[in-house]
Amino acid sequence: MSNRTFTIIKPDSVRKGNFGKIIGRLEEQGFQVLGIKKVSLTQKQAEAFYGVHRERPFFKSLVEYMTSGPVYVAALERESAVPTLRQVMGATDPAKADAGTIRKEFGESIEQNAIHGSDSDENAKIEINFFFAESELL
Ligand code: UDP
Ligand code: MG
Repeated sequence: MSNRTFTIIKPDSVRKGNFGKIIGRLEEQGFQVLGIKKVSLTQKQAEAFYGVHRERPFFKSLVEYMTSGPVYVAALERESAVPTLRQVMGATDPAKADAGTIRKEFGESIEQNAIHGSDSDENAKIEINFFFAESELL
């Protein structure tokens, strides 16, 4: 069954001109884009979005990175959307990501790793609702 996930094309990707290439990869993998927008995350938005990591040593730097430039946020649809996106993205650390994954090809470091993808159906729903009204998803 077709379902939804959520992605962020992160600031390093936008800065380097990799937005189109990454979206192209997702389309090649059968994802439909239901909604997409370019946004500059505020510090409050970045802190809330990554709230689960608040106590981690990398949190402050992560928030600085995610607010360092515009990003694209998008709601995606595909069969098995959440696990498929995680596979296509690759491991959090680009150095450990499988060949052919987005993070292997476009990521710079464990922090500046090109793309976000939801880790569960439940979080996909929360993350989509963080940025989109249902009426914006086509
Ligand atoms: N991150 C980091 N240092 C770490 C682990 C994660 O800077 O040691 C950043 C990285 O940008 C990552 C984000 O925090 O994508 C969220 O971490 P998570 O463990 O949820 O990884 P993901 O689900 O993005 O693979
Ligand atoms: Mg995560």
